[in-house]
Amino acid sequence: MTPAHYVDGAFRAPAADDSHTFPLIDPVDGTVTGRVPEAGRATVDEAVAAARGALRGPWGALGAAERAAALRAVADGIDARFEEFVAAECADTGKPRPLAAQVDIPRAAGNFRAYADLIAGRHEESYRTAVPGWSGGAGEALNYTVRRPLGVVAVVSPWNLPLLLLTWKVAPALAAGNAVVAKPSEETPSTATLLAEVVHAAGLPRGAFNLVHGHGPGGAGEFLTAHEDVDAIAFTGSTATGTAIMRGAAEHLTPVSFELGGKNPALVFADADLDAAVEGTVRSAFTHSGQICLCTERVYVQRPLFEEFVTRLAGRARALRDYGPMISAAHRDKVLGHYRLAREEGAEVLAGGGVPAFGGARDGGFFVEPTVLTGLPPTARTVREEIFGPVCHVAPFDTEEEALALANDSSYGLAATLWTTDLSRAHRVAPRVEAGMVWVNCWNLRDLRTPFGGVKASGIGREGGTHSLDFFSEPTNVCVSI
Ligand code: NAD
Repeated sequence: MTPAHYVDGAFRAPAADDSHTFPLIDPVDGTVTGRVPEAGRATVDEAVAAARGALRGPWGALGAAERAAALRAVADGIDARFEEFVAAECADTGKPRPLAAQVDIPRAAGNFRAYADLIAGRHEESYRTAVPGWSGGAGEALNYTVRRPLGVVAVVSPWNLPLLLLTWKVAPALAAGNAVVAKPSEETPSTATLLAEVVHAAGLPRGAFNLVHGHGPGGAGEFLTAHEDVDAIAFTGSTATGTAIMRGAAEHLTPVSFELGGKNPALVFADADLDAAVEGTVRSAFTHSGQICLCTERVYVQRPLFEEFVTRLAGRARALRDYGPMISAAHRDKVLGHYRLAREEGAEVLAGGGVPAFGGARDGGFFVEPTVLTGLPPTARTVREEIFGPVCHVAPFDTEEEALALANDSSYGLAATLWTTDLSRAHRVAPRVEAGMVWVNCWNLRDLRTPFGGVKASGIGREGGTHSLDFFSEPTNVCVSI
């Protein structure tokens, strides 16, 4: 699989002399596996122009049912090349095969099917309005709202769930009738390129979906998101990048939908099912080596359970074996820097805290140990900053009010998890957590129709179901006097 740009319905081979390309690195062993083309400003301009052309051409003329059929064809195309997608996702990210095979790739196809269903079944708002004394009519009006696509949508996505998060935006954007220019993370270009091949084979009109590769700042990401002819930006990534993109978007008042970072809390109450809480926290803290925006990095445990909980969690963390690496050497070094900082701040390291030695090729990869920390005050940087690695800090609490105050003491507000068998407590506490999503006795259990996103520094707007379709379309209200 050679990553390539896809612009106006055609693939662009990388330059033969390797100029304008950069290396693709396997995070499992640090070897170079290929080269990725870097889109310059001209290529981004052409992709945006192609998207604009598609809106004026056959793509823009399709109705909702035809777009739904196109999305279903893309979903079928992903299914048909399932093994290639899984292999490419594992090669780029180093994630364990079950994660790619059970989550990333099926969900990517699922995103296209979900939005095909939603757009096909969408209905419009309408109101009959009494207008007493209106002389020109019968004293009544009919209001109805039509939705039009926004136009050219820029999609910029991260490396952690490359195809899943890209399709999470591309599918609703296309469903709503927009044309898309997508830029995946420079670390993970392969499944996006396969997606372009699937879109091509599915016969979507040229320019409806365009793909450009490259870096963010001063590169393809910035050229795209600051582009004057882009009508909306859907971005998932770090809060710092969101800030940078918003600055560029401000110039043209481009609307943004942002899914950003998190520092997600888990609250374990004394009435929790301890086995479920420990296993659930192992999943929520260490899945994909903590490189999921929803992962738990702060755990608060009610005091009667605290000792047993941390002992068991640390034991489970030490026993983990089949985990993947950090995405890059730079990210591994960032996470190890946080492990060092935690020690400097006075943390007790109950598990991990370093680099594992496998005694093979993987020792050249970017692995860090699953790590459990305790003993830090709420003011410690380790408890406040997103690390995005396989690590959590565990602290005790006494009362429900204290637990809520600790959970909400964060600049972030993406997701939270509650572990309790007290139904009233669950319903009492969940709505008071400052987060876009609260899971009770589970984690990352998703229904694609529900709103997904964060509050505070974790994002702007919501994706999922009709929330995405609302963002990707513009309502026009029509009022008819009758
Ligand atoms: P990142 O912000 O470094 O990069 C994300 C994307 O933005 C990449 O494609 C990158 O090339 C591009 N980019 C970077 N700078 C840019 C700029 N100035 N202009 C335009 N584009 C630019 O994020 P990452 O390291 O790839 O991903 C990890 C981060 O993403 C974490 O903070 C994580 O919490 C967050 N994340 C959030 C969610 C969510 O749904 N809230 C999901 C996954 C990841």
